[in-house]
Amino acid sequence: KAKAGGGRRYAFFDVELRQRVQRHMVLEQDLHHAVAQDQLWVAYQPVVDLRTGRTVAVEGLLRWRHPVHGTVSPGEFIPLAEESELINSLGAHMLRTAVRELAAMRERHRLELRLHANLSPRQLEDPGLQATVQQALADSGLPARALCLELTENAIMYDPAATTPVLHALRELGVSLAIDDFGTGHSSLAQLRRLPFDILKIDRSFITDLEDSDELDVLVTSIIAMAHTLGLTVVTEGIETAHQLDLLRDLGSGQAQGYYLGKPAPIEELLPFSRLPPRDEPPPAESGPQ
Ligand code: C2E
Ligand code: MG
Ligand code: MG
Ligand code: MG
Repeated sequence: KAKAGGGRRYAFFDVELRQRVQRHMVLEQDLHHAVAQDQLWVAYQPVVDLRTGRTVAVEGLLRWRHPVHGTVSPGEFIPLAEESELINSLGAHMLRTAVRELAAMRERHRLELRLHANLSPRQLEDPGLQATVQQALADSGLPARALCLELTENAIMYDPAATTPVLHALRELGVSLAIDDFGTGHSSLAQLRRLPFDILKIDRSFITDLEDSDELDVLVTSIIAMAHTLGLTVVTEGIETAHQLDLLRDLGSGQAQGYYLGKPAPIEELLPFSRLPPRDEPPPAESGPQ
């Protein structure tokens, strides 16, 4: 009897595992046609200057509207693209789209809005990356200084000898570089100091825990202080509540991003660029995350 029960349990895991592997295979297959079939689009999330309350940039976040599976998150399909060598063409498509859409938006509304775009570690190995970025800028008319490329610390520190020249080549185009999800990897600010970065984005896992506390975590405070000493602009990710915002605003500087300040949304929903609400005023009405 016990044996039979155990058998059923294994069978259950078997089904679950098989379904997961199947979904994985289907999505990886379908991803090959996602660009051609126009299923990919870019959502934009505001990056807000905490001192002025203005939206100074937007981060482009890739979205996949799958005909059967609905919206698939980049957390699921970016790794598939990386496994299957698709990441370079997908990344180039994303960059061209976002740069074009933002250039048009800046033109139409006479805005000095910058664009942040994520690069996968695999894209750093692509010898055509610099040309892709340059071409996207040239085609759209977006000035290089309006583009910031985000890389996670693991992407950089995996093989610093190989990535450092690539970072410098990108920087030569006039774009700026950001370290994304800082604090989740194994690098230190001392190591990153030698690399040509302009912006440090503190991972939202540091902010999540602040809710019950009256003070910023000492770790967050010291990361911000050290980043400023190194001349880096700090963006704090994952602000979800007024309380978290207040704690960060008390530091008097920096930029932030999070659902409380604005959820990722299609470009046409970005306007109006509402300024940060004054303290104790409810945030602007929001729709669900895209
Ligand atoms: P990321 O670059 O760190 O982007 C921030 C992620 O946090 C986004 O998730 C965003 O929707 C989410 N987020 C923003 N504010 C909040 C908040 O207040 N609370 C919570 N809980 N989450 C918040 P998303 O869009 O699912 O993207 C996940 C990751 O996928 C990104 O992390 C990035 O690493 C990757 N990704 C997205 N688009 C691209 C792309 O075009 N290329 C590459 N290589 N990676 C991308
Ligand atoms: Mg990012
Ligand atoms: Mg991040
Ligand atoms: Mg992330």
